[in-house]
Amino acid sequence: SKLKEGLSKTKKNLTEQIENIIYSHRKIDDEFLEELEEILITSDMGVETTLDIIEYIKEQVKKNKIEDTGEIKNLIKTYLANMLEEHEVNEEESNAQKVILVVGVNGVGKTTSIGKMAYRLKSSGKSVIVAAADTFRAAAVEQLKEWCTRADVEIISSENGSDPASVIYDAIQSAKARKSDILICDTAGRLHNKVNLMNELSKMFKILDREYSQATIDVYLVIDATTGQNGIIQAKLFGEACKINGLILTKLDGTAKGGIAFPIVKELNIPIKYIGVGEQIDDLQTFDAKEFVNAIFE
Ligand code: GDP
Repeated sequence: SKLKEGLSKTKKNLTEQIENIIYSHRKIDDEFLEELEEILITSDMGVETTLDIIEYIKEQVKKNKIEDTGEIKNLIKTYLANMLEEHEVNEEESNAQKVILVVGVNGVGKTTSIGKMAYRLKSSGKSVIVAAADTFRAAAVEQLKEWCTRADVEIISSENGSDPASVIYDAIQSAKARKSDILICDTAGRLHNKVNLMNELSKMFKILDREYSQATIDVYLVIDATTGQNGIIQAKLFGEACKINGLILTKLDGTAKGGIAFPIVKELNIPIKYIGVGEQIDDLQTFDAKEFVNAIFE
């Protein structure tokens, strides 16, 4: 599958190393666990998540008298799938209108992900409008227009760099007039500094609150998986400026750093909503914890 293909480098990096130590150690002992710890930490799993995995393995080994190192991949899989599922938020299917504000630093794949998300939602039968409110980047607006044409979704943009707030305002009026299910707003919400970001977002929230109070608002942060630990730092900083409800983890294809998904969810307690596994319009998938873990460890 596309997911397995996309995660193949991450899988190769992690499982090959783990398999090597499985073959060189028959028994799960301290030396084995130390080597495992090192592999996990250097595979972008993060210190906190790694130590928790090791702790879980020790518990299970003791409780179930497991000795054979061949069991280790199953233990890791169980731990990670459970951890991801604990942090999942089960959204109730509702008919309420919804706004998704999309934030993220330049280059992470924000524009592309919005296009793909619009396509996905539209294909699933939702009516979608996109607001090109990242008005500072003319090229990004043009790119977003192209994605929206391909997705067959209406896009609201402004002429020559007017205020993002006025784009949001116009988009809300369209969404209300057409009774759209989902309004996806690209935003200039990026991290120059925290105060700046908070100001930009609070302007948008104010307009949404005033003009579109019937809609629920989600904030999705886009993170580039290829940046590894940097993604965690970004997520922490954004999280200090606004409440993030979901993550879009992009560029999982072609990176060995896909393990970053785990510490991001664990340390930030934000669920991953979508993952990007390629550059085509249908290369955005909804995140499924079990599938993701299996694609890496099976
Ligand atoms: P923005 O600056 O955050 O809006 O980033 P863009 O959406 O323009 O994306 C930057 C680059 O990353 C583009 O070349 C995209 O094609 C690429 N990109 C985005 N998402 C993915 C992904 O999931 N996989 C791959 N391979 N490339 C991606």
